[in-house]
Amino acid sequence: MKKSLLILSFFSLLLSFKASAQGDQLIKRGEYTLKFLDNSSLISEELAQNLANTFFEVYPKMVKDLNPKATKTVTLMLDTNYKKVAVSGKGNILIGALWMSQHQHDTDLVTHELMHVVQDFKALGPEWLIEGLADCGRFQYGLNNTAADWNLPPLESFHHYKFGYRIAARFLLWIDKYQKPGTIAQINARLKDDSYKSTSWKEITGKNLDELWAIYSVNKDID
Ligand SMILES: [Zn+2]
Repeated sequence: MKKSLLILSFFSLLLSFKASAQGDQLIKRGEYTLKFLDNSSLISEELAQNLANTFFEVYPKMVKDLNPKATKTVTLMLDTNYKKVAVSGKGNILIGALWMSQHQHDTDLVTHELMHVVQDFKALGPEWLIEGLADCGRFQYGLNNTAADWNLPPLESFHHYKFGYRIAARFLLWIDKYQKPGTIAQINARLKDDSYKSTSWKEITGKNLDELWAIYSVNKDID
């Protein structure tokens, strides 16, 4: 409630902007709407613009590629009371305002969370896989990963796909590139229609997960 109205400066030509209350912004571009809520005084207008711009740059591409029926309206809430990093569900993304203010380049945190929104899986699959897929999305669609010093770390001997996130993302991208193109899309589709099973990997690639990991661990390149 403390934050002054977001001034969209040059975005004003592209966005129709309406403030519903101090700290709350309703931003529209085409068929997409972002409800931007901020109860803190920690987020600069520049950072707020970067977060909003990430949504409008990234999300329509994800929807087109992954789930055309996904919601076109997303709520992004920066909350001082939320002490963790971020969480999302059903078109809502909650970000810890303090964390965001301390990691100003990490705007593709939103890209990761938007992957969860666009996935809109009916049933929860394995957590490592859900988070790995979200970081695949961040890697593929992210706008500011380099400035945030965010990348997919090289494979280490102690890694396992069950670590999820970037480690799983690198593995998934490797499968998609070197074992069976289209695997990521097919796994996404099965999670979406609740037909994903542990046997899906063998059905799609001809190998089960542990067989794939064993090959990956000696053929690590994803370039
Ligand atoms: Zn996540």
